[in-house]
Amino acid sequence: MKIGIYNNESAESQRVTKLLRDEIERTGLDHDEKQPDVVITIGGDGTLLSAFHHYIDQLDRIRFVGIHTGHLGFYTDWRNFEIDDLVDSLVQDSGQSVSYPLLDMHAVYSDGTVESFIALNESTIRNITKTMVCDVYINNQLFENFRGDGLCISTPTGSTAYNKSVGGAIMDPNSIGFQLAEMASLNNRVFRTLGSPIIFGADTKLMLRLRDANDHVMTCDRDQMRLKNAEGKRHLLEVSYQVSKKRIYFARYRHTNFWNRVKDSFIGGAK
Ligand code: NAP
Ligand code: MN
Repeated sequence: MKIGIYNNESAESQRVTKLLRDEIERTGLDHDEKQPDVVITIGGDGTLLSAFHHYIDQLDRIRFVGIHTGHLGFYTDWRNFEIDDLVDSLVQDSGQSVSYPLLDMHAVYSDGTVESFIALNESTIRNITKTMVCDVYINNQLFENFRGDGLCISTPTGSTAYNKSVGGAIMDPNSIGFQLAEMASLNNRVFRTLGSPIIFGADTKLMLRLRDANDHVMTCDRDQMRLKNAEGKRHLLEVSYQVSKKRIYFARYRHTNFWNRVKDSFIGGAK
């Protein structure tokens, strides 16, 4: 089995990385950054997001494992003092895995070009200079006209991230679908949107058609693309979203209870 290690720059992550490298070498497991079977990330959820995009072309064969060196994360099950246990699990690995849905996104630009992305957490579309105006289509039918700061489209596992901050619901990570949440929508007698988050199923196609060529920022997880409406520059016309055929796989050496993690992260000691 070939192991890849992907770490962030913090001093603690570098310390843990060295420890893990030494342990892997000691056990005779292969260390391979190019075509690993298992990728171990060391850092936070953000580090796992970066590793996911780094290995995006090999998603069907890679299983991820997250070690957190800061606070408890949602993609990071292992703690920095559990390296020995983790290495034992790697040595005894029998291919056990758990997988979660991803979000396909296709952006169409004014010059006719199309770009595709896959999100693990979410994509957001925002207008950074004016009110964003866009038409929301569900399965090619016009659903509403949105006016506001922007929209956040998240996966089930991304629902505890940005989506939660903008009032979206937390989704069970085993559900297959994605969610649309509004960011500061304008709602009055003239402009009206649904006003609540929507959870779509596995076969729904969501399309956002921007009404104007203003300054938009489109994000896919950690990546930000600024689409400026400057002379001769392309702008964003529409973006469509659907549950991806691809999934992310994690090596599941032990069970972590999702709802306990939600409780630990957001509520604390409920009595
Ligand atoms: P960051 O600004 O360091 O991340 C913001 C926080 O979100 C961090 O505490 C991060 O955990 C946490 N996080 C990431 N994925 C999560 C998930 N699936 N569930 C729960 N918490 C999660 O930026 P980053 O580390 O590059 O992460 C990028 C993500 O930040 C984006 O995908 C977006 O979801 C989120 N974000 C949130 C807001 C907001 O809530 N207002 C604004 C911008 C971006 P770690 O510290 O463990 O990395
Ligand atoms: Mn982070």
